[in-house]
Amino acid sequence: MKRAVAHRLFARSGLQVLLAGVSRWSGVLVLNYHRVGQAGDSPFDRGVWSTDAGTFAEQIRFCKSRLDVITPDDLPRAMAGRRGRYALITFDDGYRDNHDVAFPILKAEGVPATFFVATGFIDTPRVPWWDELAWMVRTSQRDGLELADWLPARLDYASDREDVVEALLRVYKTLPTESIDRYLDAVAKATGSGRCGVELGHGLWMTWDNLREMRAAGMIIGGHTVNHPVFSQTSAERRRQEILGCGRRRSTPSHVTACARPASSMPSATTAGCAGGPTGTTTISGASGSKRI
Ligand SMILES: [Zn+2]
Repeated sequence: MKRAVAHRLFARSGLQVLLAGVSRWSGVLVLNYHRVGQAGDSPFDRGVWSTDAGTFAEQIRFCKSRLDVITPDDLPRAMAGRRGRYALITFDDGYRDNHDVAFPILKAEGVPATFFVATGFIDTPRVPWWDELAWMVRTSQRDGLELADWLPARLDYASDREDVVEALLRVYKTLPTESIDRYLDAVAKATGSGRCGVELGHGLWMTWDNLREMRAAGMIIGGHTVNHPVFSQTSAERRRQEILGCGRRRSTPSHVTACARPASSMPSATTAGCAGGPTGTTTISGASGSKRI
């Protein structure tokens, strides 16, 4: 089943329709979440909220009742068989709501999930680039944005400013590493918002204590690099350092292979680790409309 079709079924018509759509399907269904809860009027990137708590609980109960929920360690066995219907539940980045909102639901249902965290955000909480770009746009007191070096035309702010945030994120993902600071500084100046204060990152990410608690309850903690660069714009050596550094920082080296590449145009590794994925998996990002970061 194509990812886009699965996504529409899941988001538009509900779980029962999805079930009907996959009645003859076998394989591994990978559910990839980022944030869980209500984006509300957050100044940050609202696109990374995957679903609300109630819908998340429904989805988990659905997986539990209709599929075998597995962890990355189970993937070889699941992929080797020609039959069987499996679900791999994953989270990227390491936002605090993963612990505060999603984890209690998973624990109550007795369902394991894998959390791919960027260890640099756990060690030194700060606002990541995608949230900072959104914050600069959403807190701007101006009515539009001009960035002659990067945007072909002025962007006027609509009511929720989402289109402008999306446009700035698209540009960011094309930038070589050496241009990133100049770009962020230019957006800070053009919006009049300045750069995002480090204090806004406090409480945004899970802590090591959160992760230890989750691991003790059966959750899997995987890696999602150290600083979450855009992998497709990052040198091979930097990618290597990001992956190795992430693995070293976590206390579960056996899960180094369970890692997800961030914000990349490369094929998703969420399904099977960094070495490349098997065929036969179906990935749903978010399950109700989030984008991959
Ligand atoms: Zn990510």
